[in-house]
Amino acid sequence: MAKYEEHKFWCINCGRSGIPVRRKVGFQHGKDHRKKMWCPWCKAEINHVETRNLDEEFKFREAFNNGSFTEEAQESLDYVRLSCIGKNS
Ligand SMILES: [Zn+2]
Repeated sequence: MAKYEEHKFWCINCGRSGIPVRRKVGFQHGKDHRKKMWCPWCKAEINHVETRNLDEEFKFREAFNNGSFTEEAQESLDYVRLSCIGKNS
């Protein structure tokens, strides 16, 4: 039987976590994996950071509080805005 663990995804714009995803234990991504997901708080598709455990969660929160993601979040949102404008014109 395969074991599963819950991974969380954290919005880089508001720092809140979305719906946890179950992964097989040992599932690996590269470091600082990003996934573009819908954030219900920001009401936009935005990059999320995946964490596998409390240690990684803590690191994300620390980086988030230090403003490490501010620029990236802004770029992500600008991209959403630009693609919306593109569709309307
Ligand atoms: Zn968000």
